[in-house]
Amino acid sequence: MAIVGVLALQGSFNEHIAALRRLGVKGVEVRKPEQLQNVTSLIIPGGESTTMAKLAEYHNLFPALREFVKMGKPVWGTCAGLIFLANKATGQKTGGQELIGGLDCTVNRNFFGSQIQSFEAELSVPELASTEGGPETFRGVFIRAPAILEVGSEVQVLADYPVPSYKALGSSSEDQEENVGEEKKVIVAVRQGKILATAFHPELTADTRWHTYFLKMANDVGEEASTSLVPVLNL
Ligand code: GLN
Repeated sequence: MAIVGVLALQGSFNEHIAALRRLGVKGVEVRKPEQLQNVTSLIIPGGESTTMAKLAEYHNLFPALREFVKMGKPVWGTCAGLIFLANKATGQKTGGQELIGGLDCTVNRNFFGSQIQSFEAELSVPELASTEGGPETFRGVFIRAPAILEVGSEVQVLADYPVPSYKALGSSSEDQEENVGEEKKVIVAVRQGKILATAFHPELTADTRWHTYFLKMANDVGEEASTSLVPVLNL
């Protein structure tokens, strides 16, 4: 049976649990390494990634989280959760922050600026329309949001966002210096196998299509796992 865990150290975990509840699914709070063994998929919420990393370290969660991702169990990171899952994070105050990794991308923390530069934007997400129905657009809530600047070949881009002046929005981080005045699209939603990541916060909207999308991803694994058990049971 699929059991959805929500990393509940800090940030918008209650909002994810509420969104799951609206879909009739009970989200299980995860705070300790052993609790990861009881869930079949995991949502890592938005919040503040440095604080979340410190708490994860305090609870000795990193080895178990990395193992969870490495085993191919479905994981969805929103905002700070995306930063956590990235193989590489750049940008302000990154200084040695520990990451789970697994998602082959480079993410820039706080790419869109500080809290007061938070915004909402209509995103085009063809994948949601084809799998969940409804409109192709999704209203993204970006709060001190990161952006994905590079992805590996295994990564499917689900949504991007045109940044009018790459420099104007950004911090003083080095990777933005060379892009002064250039219009550029940054990536804000990706999928790599069973890893889903969004730079925005679907849990803060009434639109549950991303949660449904993730639940379908999670159930896929349940089906694979149960069929792979058959030969074992026949031995
Ligand atoms: N940029 C924030 C960080 O680095 C994440 C913001 C969010 O999750 N809303 O942690």
